[in-house]
Amino acid sequence: MSPYCSVTVNIEKSDMKNYPKKKLDKSSPAYIRQRQIANARKRVYLDKLTPEQREIKKAKDREYYYKKKNTMQRRSIYDLPEDKQLKLRAQWNRNTKKYRQKMKFIKLSDNRRVLMAEGYTFAQTTPRHYYCSKKAKGCKAKIFLNKDETEMILYNNEHNHNAPIYKLTNKGFYVKIAG
Ligand SMILES: [Zn+2]
Repeated sequence: MSPYCSVTVNIEKSDMKNYPKKKLDKSSPAYIRQRQIANARKRVYLDKLTPEQREIKKAKDREYYYKKKNTMQRRSIYDLPEDKQLKLRAQWNRNTKKYRQKMKFIKLSDNRRVLMAEGYTFAQTTPRHYYCSKKAKGCKAKIFLNKDETEMILYNNEHNHNAPIYKLTNKGFYVKIAG
């Protein structure tokens, strides 16, 4: 047998599909390391650019930005019929669950403290129990907190209405402008 005998490996397309590009977990050390290397490489690339090349890059970036901006069409949820608004809101609700569960206490102009999550406000009824400010209008959204009010124990943020719009005044309290 010749030493140069080649071995053919048949790779079917279907086999390739079984080996997708490895995606690292964003919190894993390997991912962080990978990002650090990529960022360092990018920094070297950017540092090596001559002022002229830098200007070219800037112009290209600017062009890309405006191209992207022009193709993006602005749509408002308020232009849609009400049933579609609710459907879309439910979809957002599901897709952004991880990011949404942030809450903060805000002070209103009448010195009341309410809980704000995702732009909706919740008023305290009993210790640790907060209900949507539109509870009287049939909204069933609610938040239950732990003892020291740092974590949510129960989080139901499905509303039958749009989120109110609040504005932070320079005196440090919030004023409702709409909703
Ligand atoms: Zn509500």
